[in-house]
Amino acid sequence: MNFNNLPQLVDMRGKLASKGTYSKRTKSITHRVWHHSLTKKNLGGSDAASFAAYHVNTLGWPGCGYAFVIEPKNLINTPKGKRARIVYANDINRRTYHVGNSNQFSLGICVAGDYRYDTMDDATLASIAELHAALVKDGIGKYDKAHNEMPGYSWKACCQYNYRDAFDWKGSKTPAKPAPAPDVYIIQEGDTLWSIAHKDGTGGVQVEDLIKANPGIDPTKLKIGQKINFGNAKDVIVQPDINEDNESSNCGDEVVRSIQKNLNSRYKAGLNVDGFNGPKTKSALIKALQTELNKQFNKKLVVDGKWGAKTKAAIVTVEKGAKGNLTRILQAALYLEGFSPGSLDSIFGKGTESALSKFQKVKRITVDKKAGKDTFTELFAS
Ligand SMILES: [Zn+2]
Repeated sequence: MNFNNLPQLVDMRGKLASKGTYSKRTKSITHRVWHHSLTKKNLGGSDAASFAAYHVNTLGWPGCGYAFVIEPKNLINTPKGKRARIVYANDINRRTYHVGNSNQFSLGICVAGDYRYDTMDDATLASIAELHAALVKDGIGKYDKAHNEMPGYSWKACCQYNYRDAFDWKGSKTPAKPAPAPDVYIIQEGDTLWSIAHKDGTGGVQVEDLIKANPGIDPTKLKIGQKINFGNAKDVIVQPDINEDNESSNCGDEVVRSIQKNLNSRYKAGLNVDGFNGPKTKSALIKALQTELNKQFNKKLVVDGKWGAKTKAAIVTVEKGAKGNLTRILQAALYLEGFSPGSLDSIFGKGTESALSKFQKVKRITVDKKAGKDTFTELFAS
């Protein structure tokens, strides 16, 4: 295989997070499907290992959803120059989850980055071109498509970079612009409300909108072919371009902005107040949690913003009627995961209870109106 010999390719099959295995393909690969991760390319979590952890721990999939992940932040020196690392994440013969009902015949390739805002660098473009050329030589797939050129996904803001230009094809053409979200979405293979909202990372529609638009739906029992309403989701799925340097921009999310401001003023988090919910904001929230556990309960945690066994062991249950900074952190974490508690007022009332119950139901943990070790783990572990 030519692709195996690319000097920037690292074989990490079997080494990334997994829970079971994907089944073998029963059809041969006809499509190479190009994705981006919707996580900014320079962030800590923009790599194959983090996507695998997210797909396994949050979406409940058997492993990373892609066969290949190109990582712009990890540069490899090759005889031809610097190249973005290519992680071989899953055997090409495995039917991973990345394009629902088309998984069986589609190879998933993800370029880490959010190309609504990130720009492509040469080392990444070269890796795309070289991987593409090798796959063509190897006879793996016949057609190249962006995620949103595949059936059922015209509304997805994926992949957002011009993959055809990257291959240096003549007559190159920009991938289809995302269409407005459909009124009705039909459940495809591997879908959960989470994966519909977050398939390529953590951007996009809120799970809460999907739950609101589908009263009576059981998020744990979705069936392939089942129709769900998109409801308000269609207003938020396609986000406009933003000027990242402009703090007063109307883009981003107002509540996320208020969470970021709060973390900056109370905990000196030093976040950009951009209203975008990313790994830095989450890490700052974990630091806030560790700080409060140390201060209020005399735990001796290292305040490193990372979720680990020690932080989990130190968690104090937060339940209805609670007031204060831990409740505020719980409310912020629920909001960032797509479950709005209403106002983030540091008081564990009806809104917090309702958001927490929905979150626990979707995550299949005991719905007990209490946020304990399991709940905080689900909120922070990935
Ligand atoms: Zn995608």
